[in-house]
This record gives sequence, C-alpha cells and structure tokens, in this order.
Amino acid sequence: MYVRGVGPRVAALLDAKGIQTAEDLLYHLPFRYEDRQNPRSLDELKPGEMASIIAEVRGSALLRTRRMPLFELTVGQGRHALKCIWFNATYLNGKFHAGQTVAIYGKVEPSRSSSNFKMIQPQFEILPDASDDAETRLLEVGRITPVYESLGGSRLASRWQRKTIFNLLESLRGAVPECLPRAMLARLDMPDRETALREVHYPPEGTPFAQLQSASTRAHRRLIFEELFFLELGLELKRRRMRERSGIAFAANDKVREAIREVLPFHPTTAQKRALGEIVADMRQPNPMRRLLQGDVGSGKTIVAFQAMLVAIESGYQAALMAPTEILATQHFLAARKLLERSSRKPRIVLLTGSLDDDRKRHTRGLINRGEAQLVIGTHSLIEEKVEFGRLGLVVVDEQHRFGVLQRFKLMKKPNQPEPDVLVMTATPIPRTLALSLYGDLDLSVLDELPPGRTPIVTRRVPGERAADVWDFVRKQAAQGRQAYIVYPVIEGTKDDQPELDFSHDEPQVAVQTPPRTPRRARPHTGDLFANGTPEGNSMGKSGLKSATEMYEKLRSGPLAGLRVGLLHGRLDADDKDVIMRRFQRGEIDVLVATTVIEVGVDVPNATVMVVEHAERFGLAQLHQLRGRVGRGAAKSYCILMTGERVSPIGEERLNAMVRTQDGFELAELDLAIRGPGEFFGTRQAGLPEFRVANLVRDRQLLELAKLEAARFADESGGEATEAERACVRTRLKDAWQRRYGLVEAG
Ligand code: ADP
Ligand code: MG
Repeated sequence: MYVRGVGPRVAALLDAKGIQTAEDLLYHLPFRYEDRQNPRSLDELKPGEMASIIAEVRGSALLRTRRMPLFELTVGQGRHALKCIWFNATYLNGKFHAGQTVAIYGKVEPSRSSSNFKMIQPQFEILPDASDDAETRLLEVGRITPVYESLGGSRLASRWQRKTIFNLLESLRGAVPECLPRAMLARLDMPDRETALREVHYPPEGTPFAQLQSASTRAHRRLIFEELFFLELGLELKRRRMRERSGIAFAANDKVREAIREVLPFHPTTAQKRALGEIVADMRQPNPMRRLLQGDVGSGKTIVAFQAMLVAIESGYQAALMAPTEILATQHFLAARKLLERSSRKPRIVLLTGSLDDDRKRHTRGLINRGEAQLVIGTHSLIEEKVEFGRLGLVVVDEQHRFGVLQRFKLMKKPNQPEPDVLVMTATPIPRTLALSLYGDLDLSVLDELPPGRTPIVTRRVPGERAADVWDFVRKQAAQGRQAYIVYPVIEGTKDDQPELDFSHDEPQVAVQTPPRTPRRARPHTGDLFANGTPEGNSMGKSGLKSATEMYEKLRSGPLAGLRVGLLHGRLDADDKDVIMRRFQRGEIDVLVATTVIEVGVDVPNATVMVVEHAERFGLAQLHQLRGRVGRGAAKSYCILMTGERVSPIGEERLNAMVRTQDGFELAELDLAIRGPGEFFGTRQAGLPEFRVANLVRDRQLLELAKLEAARFADESGGEATEAERACVRTRLKDAWQRRYGLVEAG
C-alpha cells in the first residue's frame, strides 16, 4: 500500500532495517517516551538517574582539545542550568541557537562547574516552534511523545516516524484488521488491534507514564500477547501433529525395568527417576517422542539416556547416540561399554565417527544396517555417512543446539520403518521462558538435582597481579598428581585478535551511549582525557588481552617449567585437537592451556583446577561451562577467575554471581537478564525467533498466558472463536511463522 512519506529511496532504507510493509512500520514501537506534559524541573534531578527534561538553550561552543573536539551545550530553566557534552561532535556546531526549546534525555552527572549537573552524550531533540507546521507541534509538544530508534540516519529518526506513523494510522482509521478472536480479547480484557497500535504510538492523556516506560500498558500487553500467541500456537500445533504421527510403542514391562536397574552403578537421584519416568511414559506411547532432557553439567543425564536406550534395545530396536565431537562420542562409547558390561543382554555397541578408515566404516555401517549393532554411538557421521539403520527405535542427541539437525533424522531410518523417538540432551541450563519458546515443540524433562557426595568447587576471584600465587598453586596441585586447565579469551594477541569469544555483543548499551571512559575532569585542554591505562605486557596483544599461544610459551618456560604443558585452541585441526585432548585425558599432560574449545562435555575427573584469565571477558554461561570441567571426581576442585585491569559493572556482576552460586539455572536466569534472549544463544544459529515487540525477559507472564491460550485455541474446534476468526488466525499464523521466525512452516 502507499504510505505517505515513503518513496522508493526511503523504502530501500526501511527495507534494510527489515521493514517491508506498512504493518512492519506500525509494529516498530517507541523504545521510550518523553513526558512533555509534565516536564521535570532541573532542580529536582538526582545524580545517577536517567532523566528527560525540557529547557531553553542558553549557549553552545565547540572546544578543541588535543584529543578530540568537544561540543558543549548549556540549557537552562530559570536560574538553573545543565551542561551537556558530546565528544567528536563537530556536526553539532551551529545547530543550536539561544532561545530554542530542547528536549534532552540522558544520565544526570554531578558537575563541578557553575551549572548544577551535566549530561554526557545525551539524546536531544530541538522542539518545534511557531514556525514549524501544526502537525509536528501537535505530535511533539505538550504531550507524551514517543521516541523511536532511528530507521536510517537523522532522516528517519523519531520525528519522521512520528509523522509517518500518525498519517498511516489516520489513513487506516477503522480499517486495521483484527487477528485475534473478539471473545478472547474481551475475556483477557485486551483492546482491539487498531486501538492498541494507536495507543502505543500516541498514548492517550492520563496513561500512567511508568506503564509506558515498562511496556505494560493495555496497548503494549495486547501487542506483545499477540506476537507470543502466534509463536506458541505454531509450536502447539507442531507438537500436536507430532503426537498424531505414528511411531513405536516400546514395551516397558518388569523385565525391562529389571534390565535397566541391573546396569545402574548407583542409586538414581529423585530427579533422574522422574526424568526417566517421563521418558519411558513417552516411549510407551505409539507416537514419536520429542523430548528435551535438560540438566546442569554433572547432573547425570548420560545415565538417564543410556537407560532409555536400554528400553529401546529390550524391545528389539536399535538406539543411536549422537555427540557433537569425536572426543565426546568416544567418551560416551567407553562409558556405554563399561556400563552395559553388567547387563545380562550384552548389547553390541559400535562407534562411528568420521576418522574411521573406510573399511572400518563399511563394516560398521553393515552392522548397523543389518540391525546387528544395537547401540550406535557417533558424531554427525551418523547422518552424513548415509547409514541406514535396520530397526531404529531411539535417537539421543547430545547438545543439540550445536547441530540443528532435528529434521534430518529421517535420513537415518529405512523408508518403510516407523518414526523413531528422539531425546535431546543439553547441559546448557535454559531458563524456562527460553525453553518454552526455543524448544517449545519439545516436551521438557529437567534434572534439577546433582548426585550426592559432590564437594562444591571452590571459586575465587584473583586480580591479575597475583598471577605468581596462582601458578604456585597449579604447581602444588600438579605435584599431587592433579591436572589443571588455564583458559584464555583469544588464541593469539599480537596481530589481529582472534577471539574465540565474540565480544561484539558485550554490553551494547554502554558501548553506544557513553564514551570509553568518562573524563574525571571535563576541562577541555586535558590531553590525557581518554588515556588508555592498559599496560603493554609482552604477552598481550594490542587489545591488552593475554592470549593462549603466548601464555603457553611463557608459562612452560617460566612459572610452570618442568610440568608437561599442552596447548589447545580452535585453529588446530581436528586430529591435533584430538591428540592433545586424549593425552590430557590419559594424564600425559599436566596443564592444558586452552581457549574455550574445551567448554563442552569433556570429562577428565583428575582435573581439579580451572584457571580463567580475563574472566571478566567471558559470558556467564561460558564461565559456568568452564567451571563444570572440574569437580568431576572425588578430589576437591578449584575455579580461579583472574581479572584484568578494568572490569565493567556487568563484568563485576557476572564474577560475583560465579563466586556466589554454582547453580546453573540461577546463573542462566541472570545471564538472560543481563544479555537478553538474543545474545543468550546467538539468535539465528539457535533458531530462536526474533521478536518485534516481545521481550522474553520482561514478558515472561505474557508468554505463559500465550501458551495457555494457544493450547485452548487449539483444543476447541467450535468454542469462542467464529469460523471466520479461526480462518484469520490460521492465515496469520502461517504468515508469522514464515516471515518472522523462518522456522519450519506451520503448515
Ligand atoms: P552430565 O552428562 O549430566 O554432565 P554425567 O551423566 O556425565 O552428567 O554424570 C556425571 C557423573 O556423575 C558421572 O561420573 C556419573 O557416573 C555420576 N553420576 C550420575 N548419576 C549419579 C548418581 N545418581 N549417583 C552418583 N553418581 C552419579
Ligand atoms: Mg554428559
């Protein structure tokens, strides 16, 4: 449709931001509001708060310092004044004139100069005066005004969006189609779609300002609910369709129970019993199981998975376990052999990985194809090598989010065979809200309890200057026959940094809104305003980060001389990595200097020390996974988090949390709150939907509500929705799933 203010040039800009339709534009909601009805007065500001004020321009100046130009603006209300400072902002020169009215938004900082407070790099808008058009004045003065993230430079900033969206809504008056059943909206006390869109962009007088800022007005709730409803409905229908497919009904009689029990080397935890019960109940159903088994590192998922595989084997089917790496596949293979030795049935266990030679592969494939191998353990090869199972009953996938292959299991079974059951294991504790949406088409079992007798890992935070003490400690542990990991954020530091971590997402808000460092003295001629205090040590790259490669050299010739030190990082080829890892597993390496490549699943019970340098640079999930590499045996284990020079407030929060708790779910919740859902997994690769208006951290309750309503809607064929409304919902569902989530079609 034609939208006033959007020609081909603008359309191209909008397209680049993912805005292709008028609807997309309407769902680009303000990210904050300014209350220009009741502006704040300058004398009531408090240092540290975010404030939005309206004041008059008193004067401005461009100051040239040795490092960069500073632009200073002084605004006032009566006898109070506020100074605003922008760095490198030559472009602001000449923009302000005394007497103009401006709206300023930023963090209030104390100031030593004559003005009471200052703001560094605030956002601002020059308010329209009598010379501007009436529409602009109407939208921006004396009311609650929406503020938008720019859709393209200063041209498509807030002012443009206000006008364009206003005109769009005017032209659509009475014509915005509803997409949810009326009766549902009435029952939930939510406004219709058009009202919600109008109110979210142009809040009616009297809307509580706090509700606007927290996106919890009725209008916001309606739009957020709508988005989550269509997500949950799609997942719900997927789940239902899976339940209607025919699969295998495994027997789980007393004989099977006995077979399971006889292999257990210990008493299962309550959580393990519950999870196995849920899994077996699914397996007995004649429909395919799709279940996620979630449990922190060391919670005992593997045993539960082996038990489930035994259920399949006892019913005369084959079971397959797929691991993300060869090391882990081998580890599982050895564990399975040890465990199932005790079983009276002695199932035949085979290992299939990419590195087997061709003869071996062919032989193994034959065993699998003829159904002679009952338990098959492998890597991706299970899919890639075109292995056809004779009678596949259960597939267990370890760490699924590194794969994303759920759909490809059909490749593994023969065409005329029934759909196998699938159990996904993940050691990443996933907060419930994320599990609901990310794995919403899977049923969920959680191991929320660790096996008894674990001694907690002692976690300490140590400043980098005390490195000598740390190396001493490592030597002492090695002298007792223990092993240690020492982890660095980058592989090499000298040239370009080669991060194994992606720092680009670290604290995006801070990076955008404030300069690298707030100058202590705002006096313009100070040369060292942004002096970077990072020392240039010889193991540091230009980013000031120590790297695995350099520290490996330094440690083995210096503080750790005499110990057997190994180096492991992502740029080694797969074979070399394997060799190093195996040597560490066999105890032929005392200290493994590494990057985060060791993060997943590796089990070396004799390793008791995990040292992480620059711990402030790692995400919480990562730190938790790293710590999970120790404390796997009987001996007391230690996690030493060494920090560099500067630790950001968020970094502090993460480190304190690590010291405070070992509970993966607690850490995951905190991580989610700090980073937001997109970063939690790295959105795309994880298949996590990107939301337009919803936010999984903020909108948990609405997500639960949406899930309930989706199930209710799917349940009732007649019910409260009319046939026409159901048709609308279906159309929109398809659309939403194809366009927004890019997941599997909702069909
Ligand atoms: P995960 O795969 O969840 O990280 P594992 O299955 O590897 O955990 O179990 C971690 C360790 O705990 C293993 O050494 C395992 O043998 C042991 N374990 C598992 N369940 C129990 C239990 N119920 N009691 C005692 N030890 C257990
Ligand atoms: Mg495991």
